[in-house]
Amino acid sequence: LGRRITSALSDLSKAPVLDGAAIDALLKQVCAALLAADVNVRLVSRLRDAVRKDVADALNTNDKGQAERMTEVQRHNVVQKAIFDQLVALVDPGIEAWVPKKGRANVIMFVGLQGSGKTTSCTKLALYYQKRGFKVGLVCADTFRAGAFDQLKQNASKAGIPFYGSYTESDPVSIAASGVESFKSGKFDVIIVDTSGRHRAETELFREMVEIAEATKPDQTIMVVDASIGQAAEAQAKAFKEAADFGGIFVTKLDGHAKGGGAISAVAATKTPILFLGLGEHVTDLETFRPQPFISKMLGMGDMSGLLEKVQEVQQMQDPKKQQAMLEKIEQGGVFSLRDWREQVGNLMNMGPLSKIAGMIPGLGQMMAGAGGNDEAAGDKMKRMTYILDSMTSAELDSDGSIFYEPRKDALRREKERAAKEEEERSVAVASSSKAEDKKKKKKPKVPVRMNARARRVARGSGTSVREVEEFLMQYRMVAKLVKSMGGKAGWLKQMQGGG
Ligand code: GDP
Ligand code: MG
Repeated sequence: LGRRITSALSDLSKAPVLDGAAIDALLKQVCAALLAADVNVRLVSRLRDAVRKDVADALNTNDKGQAERMTEVQRHNVVQKAIFDQLVALVDPGIEAWVPKKGRANVIMFVGLQGSGKTTSCTKLALYYQKRGFKVGLVCADTFRAGAFDQLKQNASKAGIPFYGSYTESDPVSIAASGVESFKSGKFDVIIVDTSGRHRAETELFREMVEIAEATKPDQTIMVVDASIGQAAEAQAKAFKEAADFGGIFVTKLDGHAKGGGAISAVAATKTPILFLGLGEHVTDLETFRPQPFISKMLGMGDMSGLLEKVQEVQQMQDPKKQQAMLEKIEQGGVFSLRDWREQVGNLMNMGPLSKIAGMIPGLGQMMAGAGGNDEAAGDKMKRMTYILDSMTSAELDSDGSIFYEPRKDALRREKERAAKEEEERSVAVASSSKAEDKKKKKKPKVPVRMNARARRVARGSGTSVREVEEFLMQYRMVAKLVKSMGGKAGWLKQMQGGG
């Protein structure tokens, strides 16, 4: 989905003039991509109208002069922004998500159909909060499915999370109540109650849900929805909501499902915040959901807040002070130096499957795709990156990378000299064929700035090539720019820390 929209946007930027026809063509492509991802027709047509309106508002301001003064690039930006904003709106229910509060027992109850991924997601969430310093316990109130307690027990033990359940008690309500009670008296901060599902939304399931809710008084009820059902998620969420209101949604199985966009937009349409996404069967395959980063990642623009959150998670386990310093630095819009990047890369390597993390870093996703999306090749790329960084001197690490390029004035001088020499050669070689002339003209570059001796030293020291060092620096610049652009946004930081 992301790729189709990105390519439509890049087609647009190739269009010489941005007229109504070009915008219509773009919208047609975007809408087709959304429909293919199973987004509801009604939502797609709403998006189309909203983009048209946003563009019209921006281009036909009262100040005609201003609209006319816009360059073609600015006009393109208006269209791109409108599309971006409306894609965000498509997955944004516009309601603030709940977060647990420290210093009290937060009870979270999971509901959803059988097989939607409740038990798996419960454990993922328990580990997520545990990593953020909460004392977390899991309660298995599923007495319907045979082996349910064994499954939770196994998942929880593997992740090192305390659990509660029973092989003999058959009443889910009483297990839920006593489990929550026992964790409360043990001063747990987050108590997650896993419940049973049924194959369909039915009265018996809903009655059980309501009874467990009454017995445990959850601070948050999370409905688990399987992304593979696409836009049918809307009806399912509505049915559950009528039976027992819930505050948030966990969308599972987004890995490898073409219908993911359909499910997410469908549940967003029920005006319930999507809290988390499940992206695999493993206990760490969880992502917090935020509309804007989600869309920018989808469009290949990277997800810096997701990345930094991951980094924060690892750093919190390592050195909370350092992490705080980094956050403050970013907040103040300070230089994001190569040393900062080195720390991030080092942390990334401790974060598990690289192919999943790579998508969060602008540019790196594509680079990893070049590695065939395979973790070994991706890991190899990351290692080479750390070799490059480890071959730098302290002064180089503290720089913004420009230290590795020859100064621009040198490049200009070199280019002048080259042009002069070429001119001289041309006047001598009168007999040169016209074909060769053409070739020469085409090759004339726009003053390329070259890597300097430092870059060559780093390439040698790291066993890479100057080309690779250059590629790496290009990527670093992209990240640094993004970090800087997010720098002043206190709101973004707050959001980032919201999880704990
Ligand atoms: P429950 O019946 O709602 O408790 O569902 P389970 O947690 O038992 O999950 C049902 C199946 O879905 C299991 O095989 C899980 O491994 C799988 N599953 C859960 N979440 C995800 C996910 O995000 N991605 C993938 N690929 N599989 C998942
Ligand atoms: Mg289960």
